[in-house]
Amino acid sequence: MDLVGLFVGLRRLARRAGPLVVVAMLAVGVLLDAIEPSEGLFGTLATMIAVLVVARAWRRTQAVDHPRLRDVEVGGLVVLGALAVAVHSDRLLSGPTHPLVYVAVGLVSAFAHPLATVLVVAATLGLEALLQEVAFGGLVVSEIGTHAAFMGAIAATNLMSLRLEIARLRKASRTELSAERDRIREEARNYRLLRPVADDEPEGGREDERLFRSVVEEIQLSVLFALRLLRECLDAHTAILLWVNERGSHLRVSELVSDAEDHELCDGPFSAGDGIVGAVLSQRAPVSLTDLKPSHHLPYYADACPVQAVCGVPVFERGQLRGVLIVDRREAHPFRPEEEELCEQAARFAARAIENERVFVQLERTRVEQSKLYRAAERLGAAISEQEVVEAGVSSASDIAAVDFAAFTSFEPKDESHQIRAVRGDAKARLEGRRFASNTGLVTMALRNRHPLPYRGEYDPSHQLVFARDLSAPEMPSLLVLPLVVHDEPLGTLVLGSKRPQAFDDAARSLLDVLASHLAVSLSNARMVRRLEEQATTDGLTGLLNKRAMLEMAEQKLSAARRFGRPLSVLVCDIDHFKRVNDTYGHDVGDVVIKALGQVHHREKRTTDAVARFGGEEFVTICEQTDAEGALLLAERIREEFKRTTFHANGEEVHCTCSVGVATFPGVGKSWDELFKAADEALYASKRGGRDRATIWEPRLREHGAA
Ligand code: GH3
Ligand code: MG
Ligand code: MG
Repeated sequence: MDLVGLFVGLRRLARRAGPLVVVAMLAVGVLLDAIEPSEGLFGTLATMIAVLVVARAWRRTQAVDHPRLRDVEVGGLVVLGALAVAVHSDRLLSGPTHPLVYVAVGLVSAFAHPLATVLVVAATLGLEALLQEVAFGGLVVSEIGTHAAFMGAIAATNLMSLRLEIARLRKASRTELSAERDRIREEARNYRLLRPVADDEPEGGREDERLFRSVVEEIQLSVLFALRLLRECLDAHTAILLWVNERGSHLRVSELVSDAEDHELCDGPFSAGDGIVGAVLSQRAPVSLTDLKPSHHLPYYADACPVQAVCGVPVFERGQLRGVLIVDRREAHPFRPEEEELCEQAARFAARAIENERVFVQLERTRVEQSKLYRAAERLGAAISEQEVVEAGVSSASDIAAVDFAAFTSFEPKDESHQIRAVRGDAKARLEGRRFASNTGLVTMALRNRHPLPYRGEYDPSHQLVFARDLSAPEMPSLLVLPLVVHDEPLGTLVLGSKRPQAFDDAARSLLDVLASHLAVSLSNARMVRRLEEQATTDGLTGLLNKRAMLEMAEQKLSAARRFGRPLSVLVCDIDHFKRVNDTYGHDVGDVVIKALGQVHHREKRTTDAVARFGGEEFVTICEQTDAEGALLLAERIREEFKRTTFHANGEEVHCTCSVGVATFPGVGKSWDELFKAADEALYASKRGGRDRATIWEPRLREHGAA
């Protein structure tokens, strides 16, 4: 090893193992002190700590600060320090000061990582054994065993109680959080900011939650302001707004301001039929009472009634009775009509504040929905291939609802069949690529009726078929099949599943409906693009590549052959005396013959070979990694097969033959033009040699052709 390497290695060791070195040095100090008691032990300890502080500061500048190592370092120092003190003062291992070591272990196990604690305890026990062996007259295993048991027990109890405490704290804060969330949801529901939902439904994301929190706070502030003002103006004891719950059976305190002590007030909920509240609700008009006795029952006071006059007014929202606003005062001054009027104005103010916030929530929701649709439109717009469109559709659907399963099925109108083209979720391997005939399943029916299914999102996996009997969709409580239709042409469906009950509620469904129509248009565009691309590259008669596509491909294949030093062969095939076929039997028969030769090429070629109709009745084949002999074999197969083909025209059997020329890179030429020219010359040689044959190009053909 060279010097530089050694230095770098040592430096790395010092950086990584620095703390351990410090602890080890302390261990050696303890050992030396046990053998030869030295008064300087505490000085040594102080030096150790100083070294440690410097080492830590240095490591920090080096940006290496491993938390586990740090635990070992500090823990080791604490426990070994305690051991040092014990051994120094007792002059034996299990003296009266030794429990100090247990205290240290307890301390370390409380703050250090468990692994670091185990290491420190093991090191301490090792050092104790060494102390016995070297300084205190031989190893006593039972003593070390007892120490080990004690240290282990202390560390384990500490660790366990700590973990339990952490778990308890976590649980408590979780409960607190969910209680707070429930409270906000309850309030939001009472103010009709949320549509009614089942209590167990974890509906709404963080976004909704934040929105509701701010809206509820806003309402509370406005209501509080109105109540304060009212109390000041009317010299009231308490001003309180009670809000009717969804079912109309109870009222809750929305907000209150009162001179009463907290313990004198009741939180509710209060029955809607009780006392003054009941009277206001049933009469739908203000109610004032005076000369109340302490025995009078006002629902928001826990014990005796502290007031003598009270006035309650109904709170309406667009004609709907939503709550009751009540003010009361200690003195027996009845509430005058203008004071009642003031209460009614405050009630209208509170109702308007709630209504405003509701409109705000609605607007905010619409904004969020629109931005989701906008994002979906952007994604779909950027997708070009069918697969990209489906991907974009599925991810946009996941943006709108909690989607755990998604499948795209395509529809083939010719045989009324469906194919599951893409699947996201568990059943991918089982379903993707599978076909099924039209049936009474949801996919078929949704597409047939041009309507999302199941109706109203009520899905029953035990009774409803999604794809087909042998192709069951994964069982989930929520499912939605969206038909993809453009200009009344059925393209397929998007099937979405969710593990969450009622994931596709009305709000989600209307958005998904819009998404489905976007998706259908994008899908139809993608198909059109594909068709255009195919038309641009294929020959209409034979379905093989056309000349333009072949020339492009030829350049690519040739440069690949050049790069990897592989052979590449070109075949040019032409029907013999084809003019005669046309002249004798007509062009239609000629076309059939051309098509047949195309099929022969298609059947005989390998998958890596590319075949094109180059024009007229001439075909060109490019064979990668194929030398002249290999290409000749293919040429012979094509020739034989074509010769065997029988055509029927004018009641006669017609047979045709073809001739082939073969040229191979790199022997013949380096460029495509050279290669093609050579193959054409070889074809010419086949024709000249009597037709119905294949010829490999050789130099003499050129001389001959040129001659
Ligand atoms: P040779 O054996 O020398 O090849 O004789 P040939 O008669 O086949 O001569 P050539 O290859 O030059 O013939 C080309 C003929 O193919 C000319 C044209 O009438 C005919 N042809 C070209 N395109 C088509 C087509 O799309 N359909 C039909 N039916 N005939 C075509
Ligand atoms: Mg010909
Ligand atoms: Mg020709």
